[in-house]
Amino acid sequence: MRFETPRFKQAAVVALHDERLRTALARSRVGFIGHREAAVEALPEFEQLRDTAAQIKDHVLDHLDYYLQRYEQAVVAAGGKVHWAHSDEEAQRIIVDICRAADAKVITKGKSMVSEEIGLNDALIAAGYEVVETDLGEYIIQLAKEPPSHIVGPALHKTREQVTALFAEHHGRARKETVAELVTEAREMLRDKFFRADVGITGGNFLIAETGTSVIVTNEGNGDLTQTLPRVHIVTSGIERVLPSLDDLPVFLRLLARSATGQDTETYTTLSTGPRRAGDPDGPEEYHVVLVDNGRSQMLGSRFRKMLRCIRCGACMNHCPVYGSVGGHAYGWVYPGPMGAVLTPIYQGLKDSYDLPNACTLNGRCQSVCPVKIPLPEMLRELRHLQHVERMGPRLQRHALAVWRFVASQPWLYRIAEKLATTTLARLGGPKRRVHKLPFAEGWTQSRDLPAPAGSTFLSQVPRSKRA
Ligand code: SF4
Repeated sequence: MRFETPRFKQAAVVALHDERLRTALARSRVGFIGHREAAVEALPEFEQLRDTAAQIKDHVLDHLDYYLQRYEQAVVAAGGKVHWAHSDEEAQRIIVDICRAADAKVITKGKSMVSEEIGLNDALIAAGYEVVETDLGEYIIQLAKEPPSHIVGPALHKTREQVTALFAEHHGRARKETVAELVTEAREMLRDKFFRADVGITGGNFLIAETGTSVIVTNEGNGDLTQTLPRVHIVTSGIERVLPSLDDLPVFLRLLARSATGQDTETYTTLSTGPRRAGDPDGPEEYHVVLVDNGRSQMLGSRFRKMLRCIRCGACMNHCPVYGSVGGHAYGWVYPGPMGAVLTPIYQGLKDSYDLPNACTLNGRCQSVCPVKIPLPEMLRELRHLQHVERMGPRLQRHALAVWRFVASQPWLYRIAEKLATTTLARLGGPKRRVHKLPFAEGWTQSRDLPAPAGSTFLSQVPRSKRA
């Protein structure tokens, strides 16, 4: 996937003027937010589960080397093989080699954000394979030649009308107007691919160290067909997705579905341990797990370590006003929304991702819905701080902050400046008390007025006797 985050501002402006995108975003957000709220309300222990999940994740991160080794031993004992990929290129090479050794022609894929992160499809297609996405959303964007715009609903930016046109163009069949007809048509197109596939690639929502099991949750059952029908099954996963034992799994399953889609549970939860055993009715002959680091070890030793708790549920973006206004593509890389605004600068560099942490309104909604309690606003502030220390911001902004810092550290000067600002703004606001154009910050008043202050400062309204 191309990295286009440096164009975030331009892409955001385009997105804001895209009426179809706004319709699609508004529709999906109502569902995501409303369903999650209802599901959480119906589960009194939800908050307790969030605490437990965060504790389990922190425990795993504290002992990641131990649990990864244990996981590898269990996979090998079950007849599978674990491959360690330090970088995206290494992961691509390993997977292409496995496909080559299997003499593969057709590869089916379940939804996997790690495979997007490592640019797997492009590598496989360049190596000559036919690659077919089998998750409906991923299938749609594969036809449209677009990247995903949401980590749970990759084609969330598309309206039904757009999908109708896309299917008619690519399938050469009569136009289907209803969602049910579109889903049936996609199923019919995919069925043959499932049967012809030599290799099936899935992600791994969770990896169980105790048993060497990979766990996927889906709503369409495509993951099951992807991993059981072909001769070879490859799991791609980040190293942070490991859990100690099967006993820990229900905590995360209960949180994931409710946070992601507002369901009590996903339709399919599938656990795979090694290749087909003697007597098994189906399953792959080979079972490979590609564990991708790609910067995660570095994150583990950094102040952004808690980001590795992420279970990729998408709740933070569903509740983010910035994501809700511009959609996922504007973010310019695999991970959009608040989690992307943290991950992209870490993976791709602070400078090229400068706008992402700064686009945040710091309203804190993302943290309040995150099932593993990642302090996203704190991290975004930290990224801003690092950018400031590295002198990456616009010069005018840096100077303005330096002046602000000086004024704010001198109470007498601060009071004078505050008085001056409130009086000036009150005058600018006129009798209607609305400022139409803010000097030096026109961006703020470009599309709405600023309510003018009363003309007196907050401090001056508090009686002297009541001040601390
Ligand atoms: S940061 Fe939290 S809310 Fe966002 S995708 Fe990750 S787990 Fe879900």
